Amino acid sequence: MKLFTVGPVEMEQSILELGGKQPPYFRTEEFSSIMLNVNSLMKSLVFTDKSSKLAILTSSGTGAMEAAVLNVFSSLDKVLIINGGGFGQRFSEICERYNIPFEELILNFGEQINEDLLERYDNRGFSGMLVNIHETSTGQLYPINLIANFCKRNKMLLVVDAISSFLADPYYMDLNSIDVTIISSNKGLAVSPGLAFVLVNKKTYEKIQDNPKLTFYFDLQKHFIDLERGQTPYTPAISVVMQVHERLKQVDEIGIERYLDLIQKRACYFRKYIDPSKYEIPKFPLSNMLTPVICKGSNAGGIYRKLKNDLNIFVNPIGGALEEKLLRIGHVGSFTDKDLDVLIEELNQIESW
Ligand SMILES: *Cc1c(COP(=O)(O)O)cnc(C)c1O
Repeated sequence: MKLFTVGPVEMEQSILELGGKQPPYFRTEEFSSIMLNVNSLMKSLVFTDKSSKLAILTSSGTGAMEAAVLNVFSSLDKVLIINGGGFGQRFSEICERYNIPFEELILNFGEQINEDLLERYDNRGFSGMLVNIHETSTGQLYPINLIANFCKRNKMLLVVDAISSFLADPYYMDLNSIDVTIISSNKGLAVSPGLAFVLVNKKTYEKIQDNPKLTFYFDLQKHFIDLERGQTPYTPAISVVMQVHERLKQVDEIGIERYLDLIQKRACYFRKYIDPSKYEIPKFPLSNMLTPVICKGSNAGGIYRKLKNDLNIFVNPIGGALEEKLLRIGHVGSFTDKDLDVLIEELNQIESW
């Protein structure tokens, strides 16, 4: 089996092995020191100050989205959501569920954010912005500079879901005035599903203290405080903590810039050699995490099934209106250049099938 999916991705042997080991008992100094190391590595890899707070949650990424929204905002806020696909839509559904007032900036497939579009939302009383910086359902990477400037001039808190961008694209939390960062374990981070992360800067940490606590398990205040001593309020997905720790150390050792270069090279290689007579790559800015390909023959579903059933190769299909149009090819994970060549060759040969 080869996964060219967005998550889970192909994991490295050393990481896989950690998943098969007996999880240690966790209320110990030894486990605390691992958690503290995760805390500091995570902060350094998103380029945020040590005074920022991290919560390590045992949930999928959606849990961290929900936790961030619930802890940072309340019915007294009004948030703007960039809704350019499935994950933007999820933020809207979370706000709806908890009666947090919101408006959506809806982008149809292919539409991009620009200054004119954002200006329409200036001075409209928004207190926060929710954005999936890489909208994984379409592959579009939004312009963080424009978004950050918009939030700054409107004094809005900026909450960024970086789940499919962290460890695939450059990400500078403090430099881009990002107040809250959401991450999960099984996308760019390339380990098993099971952990999600919320990082908040000092300013947001203070706001959170005054906010009503509508959730027990996801009360971030408790998580932040416990992590100061390397613990979590409840049992974490211990094996996944071990994997995340190992992964962060690996990336740190290689150096984040160099690591990101490797992912970018793969993405560029794929985009260069995929046959343009059969596949169109959208014009909007792309994350290095994946390449969306528009199948000119409107046979995306057939290609997905053929790769899966005949070759045991997995790419990401998409549901809904774009089902037969779009495939997404992931670039993060432990596969070789040869594996990538096989995928490209198979995709380019599709007519002969
Ligand atoms: C995968 C993903 C999520 C979380 O999805 P889960 O199914 O809860 O893991 C959230 N946001 C983005 C942008 C994602 O790619």
